[in-house]
Amino acid sequence: MATEVFFHSLENVLEHELTPVDLRPGLTELVARLGLSGVAGPNSRWGLKVQLGAQGLPPSVDPAWARAVADALAVPGDADPARGSFCFDTLSITTGGLDKADTHLGMAEVKGYGAAGNGLSYLVADAPGQDDPLARVAGICLLSPVRPHPHAGFHGALTNLGVGLTDRPGKLLLHEDIRPVVNTPLCAGCGSCMTVCLFDAITLNAGRAFIDHEKCTGCGECMNVCFMAGISPEEAACIPVFQKKVAAAALTARDAVAGAKPGRAGFFNLLVRQDRRSGVARARGRERLGDVGVLASRDPVALDQATWDLIVNRMDGPLANWSGFMQEPGPLLERAQELELGSRGYRLVEV
Ligand code: SF4
Ligand code: SF4
Repeated sequence: MATEVFFHSLENVLEHELTPVDLRPGLTELVARLGLSGVAGPNSRWGLKVQLGAQGLPPSVDPAWARAVADALAVPGDADPARGSFCFDTLSITTGGLDKADTHLGMAEVKGYGAAGNGLSYLVADAPGQDDPLARVAGICLLSPVRPHPHAGFHGALTNLGVGLTDRPGKLLLHEDIRPVVNTPLCAGCGSCMTVCLFDAITLNAGRAFIDHEKCTGCGECMNVCFMAGISPEEAACIPVFQKKVAAAALTARDAVAGAKPGRAGFFNLLVRQDRRSGVARARGRERLGDVGVLASRDPVALDQATWDLIVNRMDGPLANWSGFMQEPGPLLERAQELELGSRGYRLVEV
C-alpha cells in the first residue's frame, strides 16, 4: 500500500517572501494527521531537528514553528508541553559559526531559540564532552527546509537524516569523494566562494578562483554561492556515490534515534522561503518556486519523492530549472528504498 504524504498548501504565493509565513496551524494539523499527537504519553521528550541558517539571515526554521510542533506532540492537558522536548542540530561543515559548539549556541539564541526564545531547550547534538541527547528521546521530528543542494538536487528529509544527524567527522567522510573544480571561463572573480569556504581551500589568482584539493572537503558550499554556476564536481560519478552513502547514513541515524520506537518519527519538508537561499538558483534567471507549503510523512523516502514530484510539477520541467544544479536525487531515493527506509510510492493527501 502506498504511503500517505500529507500536504498543507500555501497556494504558491510569491508575495509571501515579503511577509512572514505562519506555518503553525498547518504544522499542528500535520502532527495530528501523522498520528503523533500525544502518542508518546505525558511529558514525553521529543527531539526536534531544526536548521538555523547562516548568520544575518532569518532562521531557516522559525523557532515558533518548532514550538508549535512540540505543543502538538504533547498529550492534551500536559501542564508544560515544553518540559522535555528540545530543538537541536549538529555541527556544520558549511556554515560559519555553526561549526563550533559555543558560537552555534550563540546563533541559536540570536535566532530566537532556547529558554528565552521559543521556550524549548536548544542543543548541539554532537557537541564535545556531553552525553548524546538523542539517546533518551521518546521520538524525533525533522523539520527540513527544502532548498537546492549541490550534490543531491534538493535538501529534504533524507539529506537531513543522513547528513544532518551525522556528527562533523562523519559529515567529512560522507563528502570525501567530491572534488569541485572551477570552470575558469565562467568565473567572474567575485570571491564569494572564497569567503564561505571554511577550509581555506580557495584562492583568487589573476581574478579567477582556484580550489586546492589538498584542503577541500567537498562540502559544496562554494557551489551554493557561485552566482555564475561556475563550480561543479570534477567527476560526475562521485555524485551517486555520495547519495548512496547518505542513504546508508540516513538508515543508521533513523535506527539510532527511532529504530527502537517504531512510528515515533515524523518528517516535515518545508517548501517556504527557499528561493533566496542559493546563489546558483538566482543565476541566469532560474525560475522561482515561491512559498508552496509543507509536506509531512512518517516515511522519509515517500516524502522526498513527493517533494521532488511537486517541484517538477510546479516548474513544469526538471528540478534544475529551480535548483540550478544538474544533480537529481534518483540514486539517493533508490538506495534508501533498497535499504527499506521507506517507499517511493505514495498517496498525496491535501489537508
Ligand atoms: S563565486 Fe563563482 S564567480 Fe565568484 S570567484 Fe567563486 S567561482 Fe568565481
Ligand atoms: S572548496 Fe571545497 S571545502 Fe571549500 S567550500 Fe568548496 S567544496 Fe567546500
